[in-house]
Amino acid sequence: MFDRFTDRAKKTMSLARQEAMQLGHEYIAPEHMLLGLLFTDGVGVTVLRNLGVEPDALRVAVLGATPKGASQITMGQLPFTPPAKRVLESALEESRRFHHDYLGTEHLLLGLARTEGTIAAQALATAQLTLETLREKILEFVGDVPGEPTQAPDSSKVRALLISNSTMHGGGYLEHCAATIRDFLGAKKNVLFVPYALADHDGYAAKARAAFAALGHQLVSVHTFQQRAMAAMAVSAADAVFIGGGNTFRLLKDLYDRSLLEPIRRRCLAGMPYIGSSAGTNVATLSIRTTNDMPIVQPTSFQALQLVPFQINPHYLDPDPSSKHMGETREERLRQFHEEHATPVLGLREGCMLRVEGTRAELLGTTPARLFQRGQEPREFTPPCDLSFLLQSTTA
Ligand code: ASP
Repeated sequence: MFDRFTDRAKKTMSLARQEAMQLGHEYIAPEHMLLGLLFTDGVGVTVLRNLGVEPDALRVAVLGATPKGASQITMGQLPFTPPAKRVLESALEESRRFHHDYLGTEHLLLGLARTEGTIAAQALATAQLTLETLREKILEFVGDVPGEPTQAPDSSKVRALLISNSTMHGGGYLEHCAATIRDFLGAKKNVLFVPYALADHDGYAAKARAAFAALGHQLVSVHTFQQRAMAAMAVSAADAVFIGGGNTFRLLKDLYDRSLLEPIRRRCLAGMPYIGSSAGTNVATLSIRTTNDMPIVQPTSFQALQLVPFQINPHYLDPDPSSKHMGETREERLRQFHEEHATPVLGLREGCMLRVEGTRAELLGTTPARLFQRGQEPREFTPPCDLSFLLQSTTA
């Protein structure tokens, strides 16, 4: 359990132990955990402040309600009381409920609020911090900004083929990139297909199955595994994954709702080949903030698989100089993205794709790509060309 803890959550737990010792207690109870949390500069405390509660005031309330003990222990481990164990279990449940792959101070705070009949829960309730209020604020906060970061993932094994579009005007499904897919996948593979960007899962799977069969690969669609556990096992058993295009919001929502994001991410970070086209390319990046799609549904977060440390805009479209259309051009929309974020965005025109092999990234296909970086003029890259420098991007 503790391996999921963020550094700040670990700090809260170590401060809880110190608080217990200072109060002369031989055990760690929820009140010690809350006291520790109030001294940890993390999402938990930020959320409290956003709700108008000053950590110091809460600290005074908790200390006032906690009788002092007589223990002189100053070293070694202290056992958790049964309610403290329940807080940890509830915190883990809350982390899963948010589809987070880490346990942060925000989840500990929810665990404390959920474990009724304790001094900590009483203090939170007195400050009007109900479970629902806290969950809502936390969702607002970590829904848009990734929560407390765990360590930066090691992406040195990532193998990904990120295709702008599945079909070229006048061509067949995956026809323009068939040779690259063949080369990328190598010998016969069992490919797991993710059809959730489109509503007709059966129809979409049949189309993808035919295209991969023509390339000599066997394809099974994840939607045929109804139970979550079976779907997760299918991810573990696959040799490669292919995520097809469609609506990016719907795709990411389903990946979250079906608890598939983490298992896929974990396997891809360990080297399982990933193929994405269009929406499937969007979800391989840091977030889906640079998709062209409409938010027809609301995913838990915009945070995506994060297999590469930058954004992609698929189907990138140049402005038409003769157009009388007054809406923003794609370039203007991407400039607006850079008014809010500093992450580079690679505009992949129809017909091009990016192949990532560990620390190398190569632009392939028949059309140039356009790179947008905050505060810089956009740059053009013609395939084949090396774009490995993008893998060094720092996120913002
Ligand atoms: N709707 C696109 C797709 O074909 C994704 C996008 O344009 O962002 O998957």
